[in-house]
Amino acid sequence: MASLNGAGWVSAEDAGDADIIIINSCGFIESAKQESINAVLSWKKMYPEKKILLAGCLAQRYAKELAESLPESDGLFGNTNPGGIVEAAAALTDANTKYDTCSHTFHPPPNQRFDSTLPGTTGQRPLLSLPGSAYVKIAEGCNNRCTFCSIPLIRGGLRSRPIPEILAECRELLDRGIKELCLIGQDIGSYGRDFSGDESVLQGSLLPHLLGALSGFKGDFWVRLLYIHPDNFPLPILDIMQHDKRFLPYFDLPFQHGSEKILKLMSRRGNVESCLSLIEKIRARLPDAVIRSTFLLGFPGETDEDFAALLDFQEKAQLDWLGCFTYSREEDTPAYAMKAQVPKKIAAERKRIIEERQVSITEKRMDRFVGREFDVLVEEAVDEEDGLYLGRLYCQAPEVDGAAVITAAQSSKITPGVFVRGKVTGRAGFDLEVRV
Ligand code: SF4
Repeated sequence: MASLNGAGWVSAEDAGDADIIIINSCGFIESAKQESINAVLSWKKMYPEKKILLAGCLAQRYAKELAESLPESDGLFGNTNPGGIVEAAAALTDANTKYDTCSHTFHPPPNQRFDSTLPGTTGQRPLLSLPGSAYVKIAEGCNNRCTFCSIPLIRGGLRSRPIPEILAECRELLDRGIKELCLIGQDIGSYGRDFSGDESVLQGSLLPHLLGALSGFKGDFWVRLLYIHPDNFPLPILDIMQHDKRFLPYFDLPFQHGSEKILKLMSRRGNVESCLSLIEKIRARLPDAVIRSTFLLGFPGETDEDFAALLDFQEKAQLDWLGCFTYSREEDTPAYAMKAQVPKKIAAERKRIIEERQVSITEKRMDRFVGREFDVLVEEAVDEEDGLYLGRLYCQAPEVDGAAVITAAQSSKITPGVFVRGKVTGRAGFDLEVRV
């Protein structure tokens, strides 16, 4: 968006006023692919006269196939060179170019080597996140090779951004009034292992260095770390969190499974014991730590016994938040060819059981916040007259966890995008009720 703005394009408030509709797609599991294709079909149906540019991971992964099978998309734009979007937009709107079908692909073929460096952000990018919060990508790609996962095929190997560049972006966002920096990447525990000169898990990560440098910034802000592969967890970050409360003790650690056999088949280096011991270490050092995880149900070879092991893990881990997915059989991944693929119905039923059991665990975990005071990042004014707002505590990551339902005295002036201090007075489902 920054590149397009720099070239003179403006975002239309309404798609009806736009020259091009750009659909940024996801393509790593079946449901995401379907959702992306449905988006193209429905926007083309609503605006047949507009140019549709299908951008992002789906376009990257299936350029050839989509060029033939999805004529509703007027162009395809992959994910290896974001700045090239300007060229793509210009070509799509060039009156001299004929756009009969999906004949334009604006990216290298899917098998081409990924750039060894990551393009930095240029200019001031418009923010699509909720007020007060911004995502900062610190690394792209992944060197882990979980056997079910197509992300390294789509995004390539790990390429970390240099620390000074990330610091400059964070500084700029804070100067714009951002209160929460969410550092993201496929596995940010591996941050810097590609250029630290030390590929080893324990010494190679430069995440503690990055956080240490960020900790030198003055001001009132949160830093939230999203997605650390549990086998690559750099323990020194716990020291930083202990000493600087702006680094939130919120951990998104995708454990994926609780059966030794399945973890091995998934090519995860850790085992059940190391996963549980990591949770213990984090909670011992940071008693207020909040842990979110992801479980994958129905991986090939998952038997009733493996599922029972996962239930046992769930019980022992007592995670604050949990997201469950069913296995999606992805071409070109090692798991694709594995025997004993689990029927979808069984995977869905196992997912349902896990989710049902998680409800009381999450509710119990959230109850520990009731009666205590916290900073709350305000996101939305629901009814200013009645003093009703929505926001988030540190234990709630943007868009995935519950919300803080804030009631404020009518005289209080509360603006979305700022912190307020409030007391948690109760819990409603997964949401926390906060009085300011
Ligand atoms: S660590 Fe995450 S992104 Fe990397 S291969 Fe495993 S599941 Fe995929």
